[in-house]
Amino acid sequence: MTTAAAKTSNGLAHTSTGPDTADRARAASRAADLAERAAAVARVAEQHLAETERDASFPEHALAEMRRTRLLALLVPEADGGLGGTVTDLVDVSMILGRADMSVAMIFAMHCQQSEAIVRFAKPPLREELLARLAAGELYLASVTTESGKGGDLFKSYAPLRETEEALEIDRAAPISTGGSNADGFLITMRSPSATADHHVSLVYAHRSQLTVETAGQWCPMGMRATHSLPLKITGTVPAHHVIGEHGAFHQIVQSVFGPLAHIGWSAAWLGTASGALSRVLHLLRDPAGRKRFDLRSELLLTRLSRARQRLDTVHALLRRTEALVAGGTDWSSTGSQLLLNNLKITAAEECCAAVDGLIDAVGLRHGYLQDSPTRLEKSLRDLRSAVLNYSNDRLHLADGQLCLLDPDVRFD
Ligand SMILES: Cc1cc2nc3c(=O)[nH]c(=O)nc-3n(C[C@H](O)[C@H](O)[C@H](O)COP(=O)(O)OP(=O)(O)OC[C@H]3O[C@@H](n4cnc5c(N)ncnc54)[C@H](O)[C@@H]3O)c2cc1C
Repeated sequence: MTTAAAKTSNGLAHTSTGPDTADRARAASRAADLAERAAAVARVAEQHLAETERDASFPEHALAEMRRTRLLALLVPEADGGLGGTVTDLVDVSMILGRADMSVAMIFAMHCQQSEAIVRFAKPPLREELLARLAAGELYLASVTTESGKGGDLFKSYAPLRETEEALEIDRAAPISTGGSNADGFLITMRSPSATADHHVSLVYAHRSQLTVETAGQWCPMGMRATHSLPLKITGTVPAHHVIGEHGAFHQIVQSVFGPLAHIGWSAAWLGTASGALSRVLHLLRDPAGRKRFDLRSELLLTRLSRARQRLDTVHALLRRTEALVAGGTDWSSTGSQLLLNNLKITAAEECCAAVDGLIDAVGLRHGYLQDSPTRLEKSLRDLRSAVLNYSNDRLHLADGQLCLLDPDVRFD
């Protein structure tokens, strides 16, 4: 059987490999190539980690490396000059970056989610213009969906998008926008010009040059410091064709792109961070100096290590299962699929954070709680604490509870 490289209608390329050796070799070589690009970005991120963490500053060197390696074009189809990456590639790269720095991994995963919305929903001539810039590594995208008064609710917007004959006027507060100070372009949700209800939301694209972007406060968080997610005030005018998808139909983009790719990309970033933490702990324990300091036969230590690995294997299995669902089809509207997508996010957020928390107990104060330990557990825990908040698990549980009532026979997709 030969390899069928196909495009799903959601724009994600997927490859159905048969038993053919040449196909497997090509897939392995492609995966190795992407892993090298990701490792290059991870190396740069690690070199600047102390500074971006201390100053809560944006990792501009890591972004420059994402441009150079063209990882910013991972999900842009090859026909449009991109790397033609798959959802598996998104997972693999996000995990590699997450091992180095969760902020850098989230910056990357969020950008990919934005670029896929453009691939699938932008219309000509905007689509061609943006994909060419993405392919050239010239377009790093920031996202503005959160709004004061509605929190993380993606299905509402209160800020009105005003429409003139040929233009759209943007006037939007962005309480938290990752990389907004460095982005080349923005995807912004606003209340549709003809909205009759808050859930008639439009997604609009704006070049930085079309906007006035003012800082509206500070970014001084517990973790995720290098995301540099400042509050911003954004004003400007864009041509009418800068609406992505149909006016008022942002929910379609959420269901087919933002939701699935956010939950998969974020979970991969979190799993990468927790795996990196466990790996550094294990290296410390196996190091000759570590062997003297720790009792490797301690039943408590062994059980705690096992518990951490168990949590990460659980997340990994769920992540790969959900990734296969998304790569294999285009319709994830069934109750079971929606539950799976939500439960991946909920579980990854809780379990990755719990794994690192447990490792702190396993190794104790010196290597669990102090900032200068090579385990970096202190930073990993602070970063992972954001996961349940970043689109609130409470919000997802509420949606899942309603979905449960639609499936009294409890069928699994
Ligand atoms: C590091 C980081 C980077 C981010 N970057 C961006 C970005 O680039 N762009 C962007 O737009 N946003 C960004 N966000 C925001 C994020 O996507 C969420 O919108 C935000 O974290 C939600 O904030 P909230 O907890 O105030 O709001 P809410 O979602 O309103 O939740 C507040 C609390 O209220 C409760 N709650 C609210 N509604 C419900 C409900 N219906 N059911 C049950 N409980 C509910 C929950 O307990 C929840 O914890 C980022 C967040 C983080 C942590």
